[in-house]
Amino acid sequence: MRYSEMFLPTEREVPSDAEVISHQLMLRAGMIRKLSAGIYCYLPLGYRVIRKVEQIIREEMNRAGAQEVFLPMVQPAELWQESGRWEYYGKELQRFRDRHDREYCLGPTHEEVITDLVRHELKTYRQLPKNLYQIQTKFRDEIRPRFGVMRSREFGMKDAYSFDADEEGAELSYARMFEAYKRIFSRCGLRFRPVEADSGTIGGSFSHEFMVMADSGEDGLVFCSECAYAANLEKAEVHPPEKADMSAIEEMPLTEVHTPNIRTIEEVSAFLDVTPQDIVKTMIFNADGQPVAVLIRGDEEVNEIKVKNYLGCNEIELAMDDMIEEVTGAPRGFAGAVGIRARIVADNSLLNMKNFVMGANREDYHVRNVNFGRDFSIAAFADLKIARETDACPRCRKALSFARGIEVGHVFKLGTKYSKAMGASFLDRNGKEQTMIMGCYGIGTGRTVAACIEQNNDENGIVWPMPLAPFQVIITPVNINDKALADTAERLYDSLVAKGVEALLDDRDERAGVKFKDADLIGIPIRVTIGPKKLAEGKVEIRIRDTGEVNAILLEQVEETLL
Ligand code: ATP
Ligand code: MG
Ligand code: MG
Ligand code: MG
Repeated sequence: MRYSEMFLPTEREVPSDAEVISHQLMLRAGMIRKLSAGIYCYLPLGYRVIRKVEQIIREEMNRAGAQEVFLPMVQPAELWQESGRWEYYGKELQRFRDRHDREYCLGPTHEEVITDLVRHELKTYRQLPKNLYQIQTKFRDEIRPRFGVMRSREFGMKDAYSFDADEEGAELSYARMFEAYKRIFSRCGLRFRPVEADSGTIGGSFSHEFMVMADSGEDGLVFCSECAYAANLEKAEVHPPEKADMSAIEEMPLTEVHTPNIRTIEEVSAFLDVTPQDIVKTMIFNADGQPVAVLIRGDEEVNEIKVKNYLGCNEIELAMDDMIEEVTGAPRGFAGAVGIRARIVADNSLLNMKNFVMGANREDYHVRNVNFGRDFSIAAFADLKIARETDACPRCRKALSFARGIEVGHVFKLGTKYSKAMGASFLDRNGKEQTMIMGCYGIGTGRTVAACIEQNNDENGIVWPMPLAPFQVIITPVNINDKALADTAERLYDSLVAKGVEALLDDRDERAGVKFKDADLIGIPIRVTIGPKKLAEGKVEIRIRDTGEVNAILLEQVEETLL
């Protein structure tokens, strides 16, 4: 591909509305553009990377014996009524009516459709097992779309569904997918960890999530360094927080405070009387180094306040919204700065704070001296399981480690949840009717790409691992008006392309500095720089994006060095 012809709009400025690094870099590198909330266009560079992920997935799914299908995105309500999820799924399910007033939804997942297909076609044990997969667009009306394609409303997913005649077969199908997932994420060059997980709205008997390790991840994980135990905090068998002894702290009367519309870090820090640095750290410390307050992420406009809620649960955010609504009357989704003069004792639990300030990012929606139990009670808080540093592994009792991760894949042992509800049965060896045993297996393609960027970037841009790189090599003649440089670049480009190398030729009439900056930003693993000095010696420079290592080599040796 020639850079001059490519639709590749790069940007130097960090976009103000992108919180996480992958979102910033995907925008700056011209990979994606936003169309609407949680709805994105992939541009050529971004789509090339998606295709790389899809190709790895296809190869590994096929290797594991799964077959590719392509199912409709629009799904009739009747199927969802049959499975019982029409009621249960809630607002994430985008429902609509056609001109005949029939009800449909946009597929957020495809258990119903695939079970319907299979129940009509597979009738005997001889036709089992089967594993069918697709790579397709899903729609979920996420309550808070954010982080670009990491949590969008429309997104690409590979979803696979297995059907087995007996438990043993179902276990085997699950184990095969588990292995395939390990191969897929290893081949993508990711550092990841499978963890025990909650089954959520998909349901079933048990599941594992594949977590890409990243501090920006929304999920909290615990893992044991002694045994194999690893789990999502949502699921982890850890102890609920104890309520600390706060008898020494006097409860103050609840008072309303008139506050400005607090939005920026400066405003919050002025109001809370702490330094802005402390706010970014999420926790606010007093002069004795004691944590005195917690900030929880608010509406999209407060994105300067980076609130990774350090407790490790999304639920806290939601519960916080409920709590603020209950106490201050501020609408949900506006939860802002929380907590001043609060005391966090023993562990980091919100339940152990006294006399804190609660508020929304709105004028006059702040209340001082809020106390759990006296002023609010939220069910969600009561069952929150919050792991503490002191928690021990439920298997071997050794100390647990904590980390954050991005869920890129999820495998579920479904059992007969859908096949029973929808009558997917077959005749066994003895001619007896049996219910099929199912599993389902998802991978977010866009999220995998974003997660890869979270793990592979530096101050200059993306640093693609070779398997996902949109191009393997970028050829950069430093001055396109110098005929010798331009011709050498063209020849090298033609011969690399002929050998199947994915090369990008930067044939733009731009200064070398601009070209180098773009090459770094879009993260191409190898740059071949063609400049007058080295070319006079018959040489070009090869620069490795990851390490910055530069080597001058003879032009004739470029191919053997690269291939
Ligand atoms: P999350 O917990 O992040 O909401 P999920 O558990 O709801 O994800 P699954 O139903 O397990 O998601 O879907 C399988 C995969 O689809 C996820 O592991 C993830 O990679 C991807 N995925 C789910 N929701 C989104 C989204 N809103 N945007 C991008 N990818 C998503
Ligand atoms: Mg979800
Ligand atoms: Mg999840
Ligand atoms: Mg999941």
